[in-house]
Amino acid sequence: MISVYLKRKIAPRVANGHPWVFANEVERIDGDVQGGDVVELFSHDKKFIGKGYINPKSQILVRLLTRNRADVINEHYFLEGLRQCWDYRKKIGYTENCRLVFGEADGFPQLIVDKFNDYFVIQTLALGIDTWKPAIVNAINTIFEPKGIYERNDVPVRELEGLPQQKGFLSAPFDTQIIITENGLRFHVDIENGQKTGYFLDQQDNRKAIQHIVKDAEVLGAFTYTGTFEIHAAHYGAKSVLGLDISANAVAQANRNAELNGVQDRCRFETANAFDVLKQWGKEGKQYDVVMLDPPAFTKSRETIQKAITGYKEINLRGMKLIRPGGFLVTSSCTNLVGPELFLQIIEMAAKDARRKIRQVTFQTQAPDHPIIWGMENTQYLKFLVVQVQ
Ligand code: SAH
Repeated sequence: MISVYLKRKIAPRVANGHPWVFANEVERIDGDVQGGDVVELFSHDKKFIGKGYINPKSQILVRLLTRNRADVINEHYFLEGLRQCWDYRKKIGYTENCRLVFGEADGFPQLIVDKFNDYFVIQTLALGIDTWKPAIVNAINTIFEPKGIYERNDVPVRELEGLPQQKGFLSAPFDTQIIITENGLRFHVDIENGQKTGYFLDQQDNRKAIQHIVKDAEVLGAFTYTGTFEIHAAHYGAKSVLGLDISANAVAQANRNAELNGVQDRCRFETANAFDVLKQWGKEGKQYDVVMLDPPAFTKSRETIQKAITGYKEINLRGMKLIRPGGFLVTSSCTNLVGPELFLQIIEMAAKDARRKIRQVTFQTQAPDHPIIWGMENTQYLKFLVVQVQ
């Protein structure tokens, strides 16, 4: 097996258990490396650290799969590993729909597997894990006997690994418009053309968290995608709900979802740029009891983090201005580049500029089928905050 030796001075990150090794942290490689190979990683003084996969084309040279030398990385390893992922989800009570594999947090760097009842959507975002796609598919077939498996590898980050963007069936073809049940409500999910894997499972508990504050309320949602929060609001007794998204496809799906749940009389969706509309309505003096915001990441890299901060501040400021005194702001951020503390600071700045007093009702993160590993920042990414606005 190929041996990779770290430099003498290595980042505490690796020593403390982080699974990524950057190319500039490596002293030497013994053996003829092919991209995707499984290698053994050693410290400069030849102490075994772990086994992982390598890609000389990527800045992240090695991603560790295990720190146990006895582990053999083969088909069986993936079967057992996926079984453990499933056992964990069963243990914590996330079975019908769940993120079955959450990459680094489950010991499978860059592998995402979302389970939508009998259907599975997978993403293999690095060469080394992409190599094992057949083993992953076999494991899913063995454990679940699924109705269908679909690959959503149409993700730009794959190009950093020298991989093409692609999507398609990894099982016999099936109707990729499926219906899932969440919190007793039903949602159309477009596995083939929806965003990411088709549906944002990470907010499933947060959607429940609005249950009481939306009762009898006039609710405005922005960045609604397929309308999940808004349809929850209508179901929980909101007087009226209006949802906005810039994507016409998302809005069409959201309106279908409202019908599917019989709330179309009080819950409708429109295509709009939330930045423009919220600003305009602020000027016009429109008011709501609850405003819900779940914008996209605004940035993908640390270099342009300021762009994200400005975006979050701006949209939350505009949202707060639309809230009647005593009403609520329900606001999320899904990028790990903005940590929980920074996010709260941004909301505080927005409140100051809007000249509104706020108090925190709840501050949550992603659902526990997306476990968080301390020290691995990219595993804690979702912030979900409810504040009362005076
Ligand atoms: N709340 C949703 C997820 C939202 S994802 C859920 O729980 O399922 C973010 C959404 O913001 C996407 O649907 C995207 O189309 C939309 N979006 C991005 N920029 C926007 C803008 N300027 N105005 C309105 N919507 C926007």
